Amino acid sequence: MKAAIGVDIGGTSLKFAVVDQEGRVLRERTAATPSHGGANSIMSEMLAGIDSLLADMRASAPDVPIEGIGIGAAGQIDAKDGSVAFAVDTIPGWTGTPIRRLTAERFPALPVYVDNDVNVLALAEKYYGAGKNARHFVCVALGTGIGGAIVQDGAIVHGAYGGAGELGHLSVDFNGPRCSCGNFGCLELYASGSGIHRLLADMFDGLSPPAWELNAAGLLSAWERGDAAAAEVMDVVLGALGSAFASIIHALNPEAIIVGGGMLDRVPALLPAIERATAPRTSPAMWKHVKLLPALSGNRSGVIGAAAQVWHHSP
Ligand SMILES: [Zn+2]
Repeated sequence: MKAAIGVDIGGTSLKFAVVDQEGRVLRERTAATPSHGGANSIMSEMLAGIDSLLADMRASAPDVPIEGIGIGAAGQIDAKDGSVAFAVDTIPGWTGTPIRRLTAERFPALPVYVDNDVNVLALAEKYYGAGKNARHFVCVALGTGIGGAIVQDGAIVHGAYGGAGELGHLSVDFNGPRCSCGNFGCLELYASGSGIHRLLADMFDGLSPPAWELNAAGLLSAWERGDAAAAEVMDVVLGALGSAFASIIHALNPEAIIVGGGMLDRVPALLPAIERATAPRTSPAMWKHVKLLPALSGNRSGVIGAAAQVWHHSP
């Protein structure tokens, strides 16, 4: 048996696991993402976490060789040097952090691979999930923000420096509000957790609020119960998703769009609703060849995909 360390650096938690080549998790631990001290604190917490997993493996399973470290991190990751090319400022100082260099300095005996957190989810799907039988697919993660990853001819598309796949910033309304990326009316402003929060504040401004909580979770459960006001808001959310998904399909002609993230885990009915919103916006020939599929469930796919880089990294 061979194994690798997988690390998933998220805004709220750092997840660590020892994963074997079949994608099975042998050991795991989680730490809260340090909320103070910015990038430096996160890096030292991360290096300490890797250290303790390695010590655990040396003590309890000395015969299982650890072949490398794979890291998935929020932000646009420079595919060449494993540093953060750009990140929104939820983690102060994250942009520019040389994740690969700092990790390789601490663990010089192990190769280190770093990619964007959604790109590593796409690797988990490709080797262990819904992407197993597809050579051309797209992953969309619906959470607080919206992340994307593109797989073409079996390989992750990185673009010029690693920024490809920012599908949350496909514009679905060029007259829409300004987005932090510079564009107007981005998908993320309508269909992410934070976008839905904004949308609800906007739509109920000056009106008496509904009986449910004005956030994505409140909206989705009211929608599932058949609440009329929630259905009206969901028309906007689903219209935005259908429009963006149609653009993705027209640009890439994928065999599948694999949809995951916290929102879908909570409300599985969201996937068929997205399908109904996408079909009438997509040219029939393209639609015939694409499936919308749920992502691997559970929150382990981040560490599993991160570790998979050790065996399946881009050349
Ligand atoms: Zn944007």
